[in-house]
Amino acid sequence: MSVLAAMPGPARTHGPRLEVDLSAVAANTRLLADRTDAEVMAVVKADGFGHGAADVARTALAHGATSLGVTSIDEALALRSDGLRAPVLSWLNPLDAAYDDALAADVDLAVPSREHLDVVVRAASSAPGRPARIHLHLDTGMSRDGAEPSAWPALCRAARRAERAGLVRVVGVMGHLGCADDPADGCNALGRRRFAWGLDVARAAGLRPPLRHLAATAATLLDVRSHHTTVRVGAGLVGIDPTGTTPLRSGLTLTAPVVSVRRVRAGAGVGYGHAWTAPVATHLALLPLGYADGLPRVAAGRAEVLLRGRRRPVVGRISMDQVVVDLGDDPVHPGETATVLGPGAAGEPTVADWAVWADTIPHEVVTGLGPRIRRVHRHADQTAPTHLRSIP
Ligand SMILES: *Cc1c(COP(=O)(O)O)cnc(C)c1O
Repeated sequence: MSVLAAMPGPARTHGPRLEVDLSAVAANTRLLADRTDAEVMAVVKADGFGHGAADVARTALAHGATSLGVTSIDEALALRSDGLRAPVLSWLNPLDAAYDDALAADVDLAVPSREHLDVVVRAASSAPGRPARIHLHLDTGMSRDGAEPSAWPALCRAARRAERAGLVRVVGVMGHLGCADDPADGCNALGRRRFAWGLDVARAAGLRPPLRHLAATAATLLDVRSHHTTVRVGAGLVGIDPTGTTPLRSGLTLTAPVVSVRRVRAGAGVGYGHAWTAPVATHLALLPLGYADGLPRVAAGRAEVLLRGRRRPVVGRISMDQVVVDLGDDPVHPGETATVLGPGAAGEPTVADWAVWADTIPHEVVTGLGPRIRRVHRHADQTAPTHLRSIP
């Protein structure tokens, strides 16, 4: 079989396997960087959208991104532990988060409120000579994260006072757009206007933030007016195009071995609740992965996998660790490999197919793939299969 199967050591397993082709991340990063004059911040939250945060980060930085973005301080610290030295912004943390650890690791922090400014200033006070690098976060219309406009002027003034005291440097102002995948939606113009107002207010308070960022993947692709100095792209790096306009590449291939094959009579009930009953005599294959591995249970009745060159339906309920596939009168052998999802080139289902089957968006499919699935990264600058490296 493949070189992988011959690899020695503890990483060798025979269960479900997720191959991450980082050349897709490299190509997507280059494409996105070409669409803007702004700097690209590679958003690698949620383990790089399930693709491996450090691997996606390294690849993106090698192909046009200049900084990294994550949600939590813990995610930022993990990148530092993995040896990534590029600027990293963490934008969502509770008031009792490990701000001292963040400052010691040179992590930029988004500040969405006076209370957050106070705890960051307190952490900076106990590390003299090391002002915290902060990005003030304005709610540009989502009613989610970020300061409300009514609180913004006072937040800017307080940040300026802390800056003059040498405790923080306001290196950025950020906002976020809630409807950027639909450029006709009036909420975009509103968000852009509110962001421009927020920058004016910051300037009037004496702040001179060199980084100003509002756009994520969708606005990067569709609205140059939102680009400012920096765009924050996550989904696009891993081949998810929320706008349906751009040929981005998916690098994920999820495979699973056929554990067993059985022949059943017409009328045989399959799985919990016998949610599916064989209408005629047929062959069934068992695959060792289920909803605990990220196959959405709600996709039952619609989902398919590719097995020996043909799409085959998943039948019965999706269990925690198992799914059953109907082979009809075209059986396969135990040990053959089913492709559960992939780029689609060989006819296998794609991430987008699974998203439709599960009534969700591709983001939820890729971030849902569970830790039991063994990840194997194919690096962007490596072509031969001998360079495959596994991340247990
Ligand atoms: C996830 C996230 C991004 C990246 O968005 P994509 O649409 O995945 O590019 C940018 N900014 C914030 C605040 C986010 O939470």
